[in-house]
Amino acid sequence: MLNAEKIKEFAKQTGADLIGIANIERFKDIPAQHNPASIFPEAKSIIVIGRRITRGSLRGVEEGTQFQLYSIYGYDWLENRFLAMITFKVAEFLEDNRSEAVPLPNLPPQIPPMGIATRDNQPKPNVMLDFDDAAVRAGLGEIGFCGVLLTPEFGPRQRFQMILTDAELEPNPILKEKICDKCMECVKHCPTDAFRKEVKKINRIEIGMVGIGRGKQFFPRMNAIRFWLDIQSYYRVPSVFIEKLEKAMQIISDFDCNAMPTLFNRWHTVDGVHDWGGIYGIHRSRWFIETLS
Ligand code: SF4
Repeated sequence: MLNAEKIKEFAKQTGADLIGIANIERFKDIPAQHNPASIFPEAKSIIVIGRRITRGSLRGVEEGTQFQLYSIYGYDWLENRFLAMITFKVAEFLEDNRSEAVPLPNLPPQIPPMGIATRDNQPKPNVMLDFDDAAVRAGLGEIGFCGVLLTPEFGPRQRFQMILTDAELEPNPILKEKICDKCMECVKHCPTDAFRKEVKKINRIEIGMVGIGRGKQFFPRMNAIRFWLDIQSYYRVPSVFIEKLEKAMQIISDFDCNAMPTLFNRWHTVDGVHDWGGIYGIHRSRWFIETLS
């Protein structure tokens, strides 16, 4: 008989570092637009699976000598290959044991709906879940003062995916132990001093300016900046986005740097204005599903 212990054991054998289970009742207060039950109405349990970001993956960035290894081993491959394989294997394990399992990649919950509701009284597609919040509800950690999910095992260094299942499983207890001790080291070491400036209501553009100044201080020969443009910011108020983009370009040029504005994937606008195409991030993960078949 399938139970929580067997699933946890299988996930660990498959390479998971963390696994927590919440029952669906713990998500009752979440609006339909972000609720797991909107994706799988029969879901009874939410399984959150984590894999650590190794400490060494951050070293090249800290030294200012290797910026690619983190984006591959700390982010893209870690989440979209290594962790996704574990998630899919656990989903197969559940379905081999007569339960239904919905595997979910960790996409930003801030992505707004992009379509119309397919039935009355349903949220619009796509329903996006907050994985850090789910990890807390599954007893794996807490949100620290810095706003990032912390676990007792790895602090802020892990990535998560999720499975919704109709299997009724024993949930983890909610973590009672405090992880964040309010030491304020994150405030002290923030390279842009963002927290203090937000408290003082200093404009985000000025915060960015301090950031570029710091970059120049540590890497004096820095002469070009890749400037990522996020569709979620654009969606909020397009005219404000364009105005701030122009200001930011001016600041970059005031620091004697060239700017490379770069569009994140998923630059698809609902109104067709400013729609520059791009590949949806999730499509890039298809290769591993193909390799499993
Ligand atoms: S206050 Fe200290 S423990 Fe809490 S998130 Fe910041 S650095 Fe981490």
